[in-house]
Amino acid sequence: MISKDHLIKRFISYVTVDTQSDPKSETTPSTEKQWDLARKLAKELETIGMEDVSIDDNAYIMATLPSNVDKEVPTIGFISHFDTSPDFSGKDVKPQIHENYLGGDLLLNKKENIVLSPDYFEDLRQYTGQTLITTDGTTLLGADDKAGVCEIVTAMEYLIQHPEIKHGKIRVGFTPDEEIGRGAHKFDVKKFAADWAYTMDGSQIGELEYENFNAAGVEITIKGKIVHPGYAKGKMINSMYIATEFINSLPRMETPEHTEGYQGFFHLTQIKGDVDETKLEYIIRDHDRKHFEARKEVMMNLTEDINSRYDHDVVFTEIKDQYYNMREKIEPVMHIVDIAEKAMKELHIKPHIKAIRGGTDGSQLSYMGLPCPNIFAGGHNFHGRYEYVPVESMIKATEVICKIAELTAKQ
Ligand SMILES: [Zn+2]
Repeated sequence: MISKDHLIKRFISYVTVDTQSDPKSETTPSTEKQWDLARKLAKELETIGMEDVSIDDNAYIMATLPSNVDKEVPTIGFISHFDTSPDFSGKDVKPQIHENYLGGDLLLNKKENIVLSPDYFEDLRQYTGQTLITTDGTTLLGADDKAGVCEIVTAMEYLIQHPEIKHGKIRVGFTPDEEIGRGAHKFDVKKFAADWAYTMDGSQIGELEYENFNAAGVEITIKGKIVHPGYAKGKMINSMYIATEFINSLPRMETPEHTEGYQGFFHLTQIKGDVDETKLEYIIRDHDRKHFEARKEVMMNLTEDINSRYDHDVVFTEIKDQYYNMREKIEPVMHIVDIAEKAMKELHIKPHIKAIRGGTDGSQLSYMGLPCPNIFAGGHNFHGRYEYVPVESMIKATEVICKIAELTAKQ
């Protein structure tokens, strides 16, 4: 059995270290303070008995648990990120432990009257009777993804202390800067040298994900012509009117607020403009690669169409692909998803396989040659003051890691 108190203590020792990342920084890690937890983790991995513990110049941590079987077994990996979101403060996190949650409102902060309520967050109800860890309402919690880090460390410690559980070689990797989209950027897949891996970075218990969006970012610059309005007839070109035409020519219902499941979208994220120049920023998202390409084409055709009505180009559209659906890379090795699913079922966890409406580090890693589905870490309401994690889900995630290791050696 995994010790609940021990796990809670470990989790709290992580979330009380501020590791917020910063998208404006160009260094890796993006913030100096991420080193505080990185160094602590590297030391801890050594203390629990992991081998080949390394921490590189960019704060990427790797370690090995050697195989304890004679036969050839695939090397598998488990990966988490230790930074927290720039969206909300991660400084002075004061975790609160609520034992035997009764299913009602939880008062997070009396002074500011901040309440975590199942009337608003209905997922809470499924954790009645469990131990919840919440914030004090003034910061995020950082279960995203320190729950994942905690589960991996605890699972490795458990396997070290229980040599009767047979497993192959296991690699663990902890990364900085996932929340600013760079967690995989400097991940040395060659050095990691695993046949496949799992990110422990999903949300509620049972989640198992191997599909995500294909993603592109679009920057559109519309050049107008400014002339004194009193003498503008036939001369002025108002870039803002062209921008509205561009916006209105795209399907209004294919936006984040009108789509779900496998439906893709165009999402206008910013407008900045005056008569002379307007800039639009979009993101394009679609699970289906063909539809994704078609969406990009729609934007290019629209650009051409508008330009054809002027004697010179007025709309300049630049599209950059950001990441792709990992499904393409996972399908040829579906057994890695099957093992995770089997592990959950053997632990009486109902697998909840769904397509992510976003990206993960795993999708980038999959395209870098390390197939990498995503597994639940247990937390809810990421990136804000209402973030919480049921301890029982963290224990289950820890057990899933051990079980995957065991099943892989049995194959
Ligand atoms: Zn995360």
